[in-house]
Amino acid sequence: MATAAIEYQDNLSVKDIEKFVEDAGFKSLGEKGNEKESKKDFKLIIIFTILGIILMYISMGHMLNLPVPESLNMEISPKLYTTVLVSLTTLFLIFGRDIIQNGIKNIWHKMPNMDSLVGIGVIVNYAYSLYNSILVFRGNLHETHNLYFEASAMIILFVKIGRYIDTKNKAKAVDTIKNLVTITPQNGVILKDGKEKRVKINEIKKGDIVICKPGEKIAVDGAIIKGNTHTDESFITGESNPVSKKIGDNVIAGSINYDGYIEYEAEKIGKDSSISNIVQMVVEATNTKAPIARLADKISGKFVPAIFIIAILSFTLNLIIKQNITTAILALVSVLVVACPCALGLATPLAMVVSIGRCSKKGILVKSSESLEAISKIDTIVFDKTGTLTLGRLQIVDMVGDEENFKILQSLESKSNHPIAKSIVADASQIYDVYNFEEIPGMGIKGQINGKNYFAGNNKFLKSKDIKNTFQKEEEQYSKKGESIVYLFTDNKVLSIVGLADEIKPNMKEVINNLHKKGKKVVMLTGDNKETARIIADKLQITEVVSDVSPQEKLKKIKELNQNKNCLMIGDGINDSPALKAAAVGVSVQNGTDISNDASDVILLNENMESVCELFNIGNKTIKIIKENLFWALFYNVCMIPLATGLFQLSINPMLASLAMTLSSFTVVINSLRLI
Ligand code: ADP
Ligand code: MG
Repeated sequence: MATAAIEYQDNLSVKDIEKFVEDAGFKSLGEKGNEKESKKDFKLIIIFTILGIILMYISMGHMLNLPVPESLNMEISPKLYTTVLVSLTTLFLIFGRDIIQNGIKNIWHKMPNMDSLVGIGVIVNYAYSLYNSILVFRGNLHETHNLYFEASAMIILFVKIGRYIDTKNKAKAVDTIKNLVTITPQNGVILKDGKEKRVKINEIKKGDIVICKPGEKIAVDGAIIKGNTHTDESFITGESNPVSKKIGDNVIAGSINYDGYIEYEAEKIGKDSSISNIVQMVVEATNTKAPIARLADKISGKFVPAIFIIAILSFTLNLIIKQNITTAILALVSVLVVACPCALGLATPLAMVVSIGRCSKKGILVKSSESLEAISKIDTIVFDKTGTLTLGRLQIVDMVGDEENFKILQSLESKSNHPIAKSIVADASQIYDVYNFEEIPGMGIKGQINGKNYFAGNNKFLKSKDIKNTFQKEEEQYSKKGESIVYLFTDNKVLSIVGLADEIKPNMKEVINNLHKKGKKVVMLTGDNKETARIIADKLQITEVVSDVSPQEKLKKIKELNQNKNCLMIGDGINDSPALKAAAVGVSVQNGTDISNDASDVILLNENMESVCELFNIGNKTIKIIKENLFWALFYNVCMIPLATGLFQLSINPMLASLAMTLSSFTVVINSLRLI
């Protein structure tokens, strides 16, 4: 399957587009054709696999002394035997007509590819066998030994199976992306009778007031009625800079809300919303091709022309030396068939599809095959702290400040999505209205309550304000216990300090240990303070700790570590997103923000962090198996080419050639299944 992007004006209907597609020489399957088509393809594969087995049994059964019915025995009833083979193989030719047509078209355009090799091999072999069939009917009965129909049929079958798996793999990637991450979130929060209510996206109705906090995605198209923010609309506009949004501005479903708390009125729902962009995302997703897959393309790019030359050479030399047209044709067909790198096309997609499937069974969502390949080169793993190494379910354990201050803090935090915010707001009964809310990732939040500016965040945030810290002593005490600290302050005074304790995720220590044993460097990268970071790191035996960093500094550190594309980053927050994107492989954890899910290549769907080790195991094994597959895919074929030329003492005919080819495909299939 290949993809194309078509740009068109709004006034065109699906019919118009289909007409263009058909004029350009393609077939349109309509808007939803894919699913049906895939089922049909699967049925065809099954039917032809059965036919293939029957065909092989009839044509080879006697060689293996298997009981073949007399009426189909090549010696006893040669004419019926020939008729059955011709008819069955003709069906295969019809089945594989797309491959043959494409192969010939590519030769015509002087760009022979794998299809050309297959197409020419199949056609020459079929034509030659057909010619011999005519001889059989003319009474030349021993010509039944010169029928090589099954070779044509088997080649088509194997190429078809390879293509099917490849398409399926891509379709799966597209589906996952559609359902899970990239476009719109599955849930949204609406305001009902003054309360926040989490609902499924299809329950949101036109006119509903929808809430969006920093780091979340806009659920449906709408217009802002409260608050201001910046959003990322790059997936639609291609503009990578955040767009500033204020009351009255439109927001687009699927875009990401960076830093403000907004309420907006739902306008366009479901089919009407700007989801036409799905098309673009889908195209992007299907166009990802692991570098190792390109290696297979590259090999066959050189391989194919070389084989054509060898085939023609062996034909000519056989004709000159042996002066026998049958031998010459046999050599030509044998070379084409034996060299046909069908298994090469199967080698990568098969292993990838098996691995990605296995990952998703274990709750690891791998967005592209590139990332699975990149895993094998990783030697440095960087963990974010809050919400990644720790559960992110923090408990307030220490606090200085009165009730009124706490109410202000809760009001501010109710607009944020940070794990700390969720814990502080947990049992809030009444909160104030907050205006001009803004989140400063890695530092804290700010907003206006009753006309006064309030800030909540870490001491770095406090320091940036240049006011006296009257809670220095408390901070030291709390952080010695490994607590995360939140200050509440105004433009000129610190009001309150809160210490929150978090729990390290279960198994986390074993996971870190395991990574160390694998020889990986483990780094903690956190926006939290030095003391707290150190205590958690010590508990986990992480020696390299970078603390007190802003999102930009996280990004810088990852860029520094990722110079050889060897750094994997795991995180959950808004502040991790740039770093996740910059790492060779970005992994977001369960409960991560939409923005971090979006920025990463892999999403962990369950809390158990052993998934990280699993990801390494599967990734490494996949690459090993793909390399083995590529080797086996070429090994038989290359070894057999000299024999196929018929110029040496030992030689093979097209039937043995097809057997060798089948064998290499078979090895690849069996080898890939080891990944399950
Ligand atoms: P990590 O990098 O470990 O996940 P973050 O960068 O998300 O941590 O947060 C670092 C620190 O910034 C927190 O420990 C906290 O003090 C402060 N902070 C961030 N967001 C908030 C918020 N919404 N409310 C209060 N403090 C915050
Ligand atoms: Mg975090």
